[in-house]
Amino acid sequence: MTNLSELPTWIFLLPLILLVLLWFSRRRHSHKQNKIRQLPPEYFTGLNYLLNDEHSKALDIFVKLVETDWDLVDTHFALGKIYRKNGEIDKAIKIHQGLIARPSLPEEYRSKVLLELGYDYLGAGWFDRAEGLFKEVLIHDASSEVAKRNLILIYQQEKEWRKAIEFAVKLYSEGATDVGPMISQYYCELAEIARSKGDISQLAQDAKQALHYDEGSIRALILLADHEMEKQHYKQAVYYFERIEQRDAEFFPVVIDRVINCYHRTGDPGKLLSYLADVEQRHQSLAMIEKHAMVIERYKGKEAAIEYLTDRLRKFPDLKGMQSLINYKSNQADSAELSLLLDLKSALVKIQKDDAEFQCHHCGFQSNTLYWLCPSCQSWAEVKPTMIEAA
Ligand SMILES: [Zn+2]
Repeated sequence: MTNLSELPTWIFLLPLILLVLLWFSRRRHSHKQNKIRQLPPEYFTGLNYLLNDEHSKALDIFVKLVETDWDLVDTHFALGKIYRKNGEIDKAIKIHQGLIARPSLPEEYRSKVLLELGYDYLGAGWFDRAEGLFKEVLIHDASSEVAKRNLILIYQQEKEWRKAIEFAVKLYSEGATDVGPMISQYYCELAEIARSKGDISQLAQDAKQALHYDEGSIRALILLADHEMEKQHYKQAVYYFERIEQRDAEFFPVVIDRVINCYHRTGDPGKLLSYLADVEQRHQSLAMIEKHAMVIERYKGKEAAIEYLTDRLRKFPDLKGMQSLINYKSNQADSAELSLLLDLKSALVKIQKDDAEFQCHHCGFQSNTLYWLCPSCQSWAEVKPTMIEAA
């Protein structure tokens, strides 16, 4: 792999040079009815310094030039972006700090410079400084959506959920409904904190707020279902669990044990068996089939479970389903058959041992833990159970 530092400087500066030429051509075009405008000769001296890696001298020239012609400020922004992209944050900061220190900086550019400096600080990992700058942008321009979105991301990074909610709700009330699922996740974080402290009423309040901002939030539905289970309100818990299945069947294997437990508690096996058969019409994962077999065994006996599994496996042959059938058969086998079945079982376990239980639908990150915020791409609610399809 080529090291970036080995590449010639002009490769990094190519976008800038193109931008300058485009700018110049645009200016010439826009002024053709009046007078043709020329770039000052110092500008090209500055470019020359850049090409010779004499950044300090180049920046001195550009900062002086911008004092007399603020129309050149776009070039500073472009240069700052290139430095930031190449990881030369200190140079980007120098450019933007140089601009902000100019008493002649026109008010119309102030917010833009503050934003760019904020991005530099984010790039350097200085969240406190970035937070201060984005707040300052809001003092100059209270409607700045980009400043609010950056503040939200900073608070999310720092797990300051209440502050993240404050700015996200502002955006939401201004019409940015796309932040609804994020607000919902922040309330879920608060609900989990409340649960860890044993504050049950706060947990319910936060989880319901989460559902308010995202009515299909699987995480909020799980929190509320668990909450009802803890209160032994099993029918209410089943109501939330059933909503999970209706909303996103991929998550059903995550809660299926709890659903079955709730039905056991309500003492209505007939309803449970018909519910599982009904779900299986829409959702044919092998986790589902395996659990269904266990319920059949519990209420109708082992033979009925084996008959059900054999029938399903004939239609949908799969390693995990086969493993499940072996488990059932092992309990009935004589010693010779048992030895063969155990060998088969350990071979199947070996084959499947690298299977991840969860995968991010956005970046492909795999894990055996369910993360609501993907540790790899930082997307919310994209990590989902790996579907072992029966068909
Ligand atoms: Zn991801």
